[in-house]
Amino acid sequence: MIAGGDARVPVGREASRILGGMLARARADIHAGHLVRNARALAQVSGTPLIAPVKADAYGHGVNLVARALEDEPSVWGFAVAMPREAAALAPLTRKPVLLMTPAAPEEVGPLADLGVRLSVSSAEEVAALPAHARVHLKVDTGMNRLGAKPPEALRLGAALEARGLLEGVYTHLACADDPDLRMSEAQIHAFAAVRAAFPAALAHAQNGAGVLALGRVPGLDLARPGLALYGYPPEHLRARAELRPAMRVTARVGFVHTVPAGESVSYGALWRAPEDTRVATVQFGYADGYPRGATGRARAVVRGEVRDVLGRICMDQFMLDVQGLDVRVGEWVEVFGWDVLSASDLAAWSDGIEYEVLTGIGARVERTLVESAG
Ligand SMILES: *Cc1c(COP(=O)(O)O)cnc(C)c1O
Repeated sequence: MIAGGDARVPVGREASRILGGMLARARADIHAGHLVRNARALAQVSGTPLIAPVKADAYGHGVNLVARALEDEPSVWGFAVAMPREAAALAPLTRKPVLLMTPAAPEEVGPLADLGVRLSVSSAEEVAALPAHARVHLKVDTGMNRLGAKPPEALRLGAALEARGLLEGVYTHLACADDPDLRMSEAQIHAFAAVRAAFPAALAHAQNGAGVLALGRVPGLDLARPGLALYGYPPEHLRARAELRPAMRVTARVGFVHTVPAGESVSYGALWRAPEDTRVATVQFGYADGYPRGATGRARAVVRGEVRDVLGRICMDQFMLDVQGLDVRVGEWVEVFGWDVLSASDLAAWSDGIEYEVLTGIGARVERTLVESAG
């Protein structure tokens, strides 16, 4: 039936119009005010402007929305991404600098430099491939052993970059800043300081979000790169260091409501059985949207202001919620997590995961919107 099609079935613009009338089943509100206030709070603690990490679609929040929210915020110097495609997509949308934090392939270097993207380099081969108009942040490996040149090599690369007028920044990445034991972080900062001192004109940065909150102001650093904390999720033991609020609230629509008779089970595997006749809402949000299936048996969601149990196994597109005693209707919205009652930390705990996974896992079907207030 694909070949030839059916003349009665709309195509092209008419089909697009119909598609546009199909409503999203799940929404993510991205709170611009929380993002701005989190940025200011973190910049206050670090004593520096920020490079806001917006890799992985801004930790799932939507890079275009986050860039829009922070574009005019003076405490944000620029944005950082992980992939050349992310850099090339973002650079034309912002007046702020965009830093690519991973190596670009030789054929990507010229086009990225044309867009003004700041490149990261870790090796002599990468330095050799740079065009004359590149602006570069030299990556120094102080113990993460992921990217970067070891300090003696970094001194040589930095000198070569400086001689060519390409060096804008020098940076390192902390491996254990979320560990209450700060010895590793302090050793990394110490190793970095020696390289940093050789290039006083370069912008130096080292702290991720945990590093900002754990170390505060670090002499000699000019910028900081807090990611998860910017989105409102500091490490638990550092929560008192800054007032941060989650920036994302996910809500999903009730698609069906019915009464499950006593003794019958709900969802795959029949893991949950109704002890009595139970009112159950089917909510249109599943693991394909980022609801961790591993949270089955522990997950809860907010309906009509009450926190209720998710019943049975979380499915790909739906989950079932105990709404016994509530007059829940089809079409109303359930809060999966947000900034008031439940958070991404709860979903992470229920699924033995981390907030990074929960937030970056929020799927493409979830309609993201920038909101100015709690709404
Ligand atoms: C992701 C990333 C950050 C931000 O880390 P958070 O833990 O989210 O604060 C900073 N720097 C680099 C190099 C990164 O890859």
